[in-house]
Amino acid sequence: MSAEPLMQLENIYQIYGSGARRFTAVEDVNMSLFPGEFVALLGPSGCGKSTLLRIITGLQPPSKGKVIYRGEVLRGVNFNSSMIFQTFALFPWLNVIENVSLALQVKGIEEPERTQKAEDLLDRVGLDGFESAYPRELSGGMRQKVGFARAMAVEPELLCLDEPFSALDVLSAEALRNELLELWTGGKIPTKAILMVSHNIEEAVFLADRIIIMDKQPGRIIAEHRINLPHPRQRKSPVFQNQVDLVYAILAGQTLPENEELGTAPGEGGRTRQLPKVEIGDLTGLLEYLTESGEEKYDIYLLEDELGINSDQLLLLTEAAELLGFASIAKGDIEITPLGQTYAEASILGRKEIFASRVRRIPMMRWLLTMLKASDKQQLKWNVIQTALSLEFPPDEAEVQIETLINWGRYGELLVYEDDSETLTLETSLQKV
Ligand code: ADP
Ligand code: MG
Repeated sequence: MSAEPLMQLENIYQIYGSGARRFTAVEDVNMSLFPGEFVALLGPSGCGKSTLLRIITGLQPPSKGKVIYRGEVLRGVNFNSSMIFQTFALFPWLNVIENVSLALQVKGIEEPERTQKAEDLLDRVGLDGFESAYPRELSGGMRQKVGFARAMAVEPELLCLDEPFSALDVLSAEALRNELLELWTGGKIPTKAILMVSHNIEEAVFLADRIIIMDKQPGRIIAEHRINLPHPRQRKSPVFQNQVDLVYAILAGQTLPENEELGTAPGEGGRTRQLPKVEIGDLTGLLEYLTESGEEKYDIYLLEDELGINSDQLLLLTEAAELLGFASIAKGDIEITPLGQTYAEASILGRKEIFASRVRRIPMMRWLLTMLKASDKQQLKWNVIQTALSLEFPPDEAEVQIETLINWGRYGELLVYEDDSETLTLETSLQKV
């Protein structure tokens, strides 16, 4: 990595609207992108990620501040950059190879080099044999691949990606991530730096060298984290999971991933912290409500009325939100963290992933998962766990705790519970690890 940045943002502000509707969408953002870097931008919806990409690529001038590209102030569109969006707008009347060729034609590349180059690009993204297909004949994943090929055709020095994988199914997304990584790490593209907006923490840790974390109201950078792991990265490895946990912790506004608040596991010295008995659906409802309200802080007392739930129930919900790092509570106010917002805005699958990552850290759950892992067939009977927990809690409370562990563990897809046989089993995906 050389010392000269490829691109720099200096005191970038973006103001939108006017009069009473005037608001600061991006406030004083400063960052640099160096040659050789893959940087991911994470943060809740509305924190200004897309705005920043448009400013960086010159599609939109900032209200204030400078974009510096290769040492010079950027004016107008940056033709050294190209952008890939969540869903790519292909020309429906052109077939696959024509869609890619067009980008090359715009660049002034003549035949026969043009077709040859387009074929080569399609090959690289795994679309060999689909040259003459029309966009309508392709799956979403394949269309996105054509989009990639078209963006690559321009051979951008700076490649900007705005949630490029979020509209794809799990398998297509993973395949395309790996292809992008191969192109990038294999030096098969002349691209000098990649900046990718993502909603997905694991994806960012999987791909990026550096993660920049933003928060909203106003949109600003709150933290940065470097990922020093070689490629290809092993998602299941403890070092990888550690990095994922660290990023979660930053999003949850915690400086340390393991804070004392979590208490200890059963059987260990110190206080075992009980799990608040809440349904995940109710917790999600609270987080959605807080996110949609757009308020930075919310008076817990007011929530009681607005959500129509009693104060005991609300107390448990806010406690759960805090325990998971989705919110912080101070002086009767609840404040949703960037992680809580990300959770509220994520897809069902995304929520499960975030939830699982967080709930595994809670000592009580860690204890249960460790016990399951150590057991024959990685299974335990309900009453065995109850006996173990009865050493710490009164019998009724032990039952409530198991019920909550089962509910949370099921939702996070960490364990399976079979009602008939009253057996808990470790989820198969965890058994291999
Ligand atoms: P993100 O990509 O992080 O979700 P955006 O950059 O799209 O965030 O938007 C940041 C904020 O600015 C949001 O509140 C959004 O509604 C607002 N916004 C974005 N573009 C415009 C625009 N052209 N005019 C007015 N408001 C906008
Ligand atoms: Mg966006």
